[in-house]
Amino acid sequence: MERGLLIVVSGASGTGKGTVCKKILDDMPQVAYSISATTRTPRPGEVDGKEYYFLSRDEFTAWIDGGKFLEFAEVYGNFYGTPLNKIEERLNRGEDILLEIDVQGALNVKRKCPDGVYIFLLPPSLHELKRRIEGRGTETPESLRRRLANAVAEIQIGREYTYVVVNDSVERAAAQIEAIIAAEKCRVERNADKFSLEEVF
Ligand code: ADP
Ligand code: 5GP
Repeated sequence: MERGLLIVVSGASGTGKGTVCKKILDDMPQVAYSISATTRTPRPGEVDGKEYYFLSRDEFTAWIDGGKFLEFAEVYGNFYGTPLNKIEERLNRGEDILLEIDVQGALNVKRKCPDGVYIFLLPPSLHELKRRIEGRGTETPESLRRRLANAVAEIQIGREYTYVVVNDSVERAAAQIEAIIAAEKCRVERNADKFSLEEVF
């Protein structure tokens, strides 16, 4: 059994990670989404246990103390974490798992799981990033400024990833990530078993 891929998609807030990952999950039903836990309040339409596990600060702290997270980080005043949720066993069973997490979290996962696939999503430009965050309508002018300043720093960290994809169009960015997943599955080191040939003589 081939081990599944741990696919980590990351990038600055507002780049379009959520939108692009949704397309990938629609296109590739064999890829499982890792549902994060967060202390932020649900947005309209978000359902507990679907987009996130919505926890109180005390519950989140209890999960940290109970060793339930692969990684966690504070992002714009709220805590977010990837539940361990048997990730290792699931990968060993051949499941592909997609994490859509912030830059700090992705670097922490990269230290723990060097065989993961680390993909950095870039906005086409900072102006377009500003337009996208404004268009989402979730930020005050002050929090918009903070996100853009952070984005400049976070984008430099993108150099530490393995792949970079520009989200100019959702279809094109998703197609590139799907191509990366397909190529990663063909890596020689992930296919050692295919080199043991049967006897013919
Ligand atoms: P993130 O998850 O990175 O914070 P979102 O997926 O919430 O970002 O996207 C931020 C905003 O940008 C949303 O309003 C989304 O519809 C829009 N968006 C995402 N990708 C694109 C794109 N390729 N072109 C135009 N708008 C986009
Ligand atoms: P939002 O509140 O817009 O859903 O997410 C805010 C940020 O938190 C996004 O950059 C998102 O990728 C990130 N995020 C979501 N889940 C996790 C997680 O489990 N761990 C970390 N480190 N970041 C996360």
